[in-house]
Amino acid sequence: MNESMPFNDVDYTTLAERCRGDFPLLARQMHGRPLVYLDNAATSQKPQPVLDALQYYYRQQNANVHRGVYQLSEEATAAYEAARARVQRFINAAAMEEIIFLRGTTEAINLVAQAYARPRLQPGDEVLISAIEHHSNIVPWQIVCRQTGAQLRVIPVLDNGELDQSAFAELLGPRVRLLALTHVSNALGTINPIAEMIAQAHRQGIPVLIDGAQAVPHLRVDLQALDADFYAFSGHKLYGPTGIGALYGKRRILEAMEPWQGGGEMISQVSFEHTDYNQLPYKFEAGTPNIADAIGLAAALDYVDNLGLEVIAAHERQLLAYGTRALQQVPGLRLIGTAPDKAAILSFVMAQAHPHDISTILDRCGVAVRAGHHCAMPLMQRFGLAGTARASLALYNSRQDIDVLIEALHQVVRMFGDATTEGGQ
Ligand code: PMP
Repeated sequence: MNESMPFNDVDYTTLAERCRGDFPLLARQMHGRPLVYLDNAATSQKPQPVLDALQYYYRQQNANVHRGVYQLSEEATAAYEAARARVQRFINAAAMEEIIFLRGTTEAINLVAQAYARPRLQPGDEVLISAIEHHSNIVPWQIVCRQTGAQLRVIPVLDNGELDQSAFAELLGPRVRLLALTHVSNALGTINPIAEMIAQAHRQGIPVLIDGAQAVPHLRVDLQALDADFYAFSGHKLYGPTGIGALYGKRRILEAMEPWQGGGEMISQVSFEHTDYNQLPYKFEAGTPNIADAIGLAAALDYVDNLGLEVIAAHERQLLAYGTRALQQVPGLRLIGTAPDKAAILSFVMAQAHPHDISTILDRCGVAVRAGHHCAMPLMQRFGLAGTARASLALYNSRQDIDVLIEALHQVVRMFGDATTEGGQ
């Protein structure tokens, strides 16, 4: 690869070849075939440096953080706080205090729903979400609406998977107290124009939470430029460990919030009469944190940044275009989600077969794809589908992986027939 060439002119197929060996699990076979792992939107595989970082921590540094006045604890604390600084740098947050380590996106959204929204919502207020949200950006808002008497409003989606921007403008009324929106749809791949949508909401004084679970592995996120009030993501979709993720929140907003959970770490002074809370970000990190996995996440961010997120994005864009063209040639196959601005997600249905049958046949060919509602049941209902099959790509996927997928789909066609009319699955 010639580093001096502009991204669009470079052949990125070598990226997968270069990196595949870094991911030990990808050497596995499934049903006697080489594994072709295309379920990266559910979770990604982990490169050796992440596995090494976890091992190193447990073999050399394991101690509880913040409280120990001995060298080992100080080392663990330094590594944990360095991981926080690493996350801050990755998403260009203004301050380390704005990064709260949590289990992942789901926990982050629940924290905002309960600690930010719940005390502020009144009967008749509105929380605005969109039709393409993951359940984790729907259900926490339904719960808080039920608790407060607020109403949930939903921005509709167009047939190609883009949000209806004129409906959005109309829904941004004076009763909306929060906009909670996904950056990238896990079921369709749609990249929402969040910079403009955040600006539009802010013009009316409405704070915005962005669900970045599917965005951070594929796009450079700059929170100071985006100006989101909250941004949530998970480490495990970003080549990091499970059980760790982060909530970014603007310092001024986090400072004004009451804690979510009580316990150790989040206090500065406790008596039976009164408790003073710790400073940010510890106010929102009750209990012993997930130290090892935060350190593992930092190693994953190093790995991604060493390759270059822009290089990864360009590779995935090429692969998406290649995969889109190839899937369109498969008889009876229909892509679901054809927005012009898409991340590396290929959702589809076939006239001949249910998504679960597709997935089972692909599995016998060594190809792992997800089938079902993708935790977005309202979106599936909108498209009149019980579910889709979904191939989601990562930096280690290659054209050869797509070719194996396509060959396996032709096997579905051979088994179920070359349907010319589509049944709704
Ligand atoms: N939002 C989106 C868009 C997702 O794709 C996911 C994971 N599938 C989540 C939220 C929830 O992430 P987690 O399960 O890691 O909390």
